[in-house]
Amino acid sequence: MKNNCVFCAIAAGEIPSFKVFEDENIFAFLDINPFSKGHVLVIPKEHSANLIETSDETLSSLMVAVKKVALGVKKALGCAGFNILQNNGEAAGQTVMHIHFHIVPRYSSGPIIFENGKCEMSELEELAAKIRSSI
Ligand code: 5GP
Ligand code: ZN
Repeated sequence: MKNNCVFCAIAAGEIPSFKVFEDENIFAFLDINPFSKGHVLVIPKEHSANLIETSDETLSSLMVAVKKVALGVKKALGCAGFNILQNNGEAAGQTVMHIHFHIVPRYSSGPIIFENGKCEMSELEELAAKIRSSI
């Protein structure tokens, strides 16, 4: 695995994922341990660890992709809102050291922790297909 990085391996198709969007620079897929139904991660294909280490050029295309995918998630799932999360460093809760933005759909108000996103694998594929076709 390149860099020993799980997200580089996902972007390269070496590790399977439920893909929702891909272009030349960007890859987006369902989080395997979702906070809510339709929780998506958006990453650049080029490896960098965090916000500071990512080039301005990559960040620009990444942010535009986050908007595009968030719009698709909203259209596909009809969520009332969504949170964008981006953790930098272990102290901030970052567990995968390849920059990623979380898109967490919200279906009701209240603390994020109470939105149960646990899904069966078959449901994840259905969700991914729904989002893919809305982008
Ligand atoms: P962080 O805490 O670093 O901001 O978030 C990392 C996220 O990546 C977590 O929400 C975790 O569930 C997700 N994740 C970790 N490994 C994998 C994986 O192999 N596949 C997928 N789809 N998500 C992963
Ligand atoms: Zn990586």
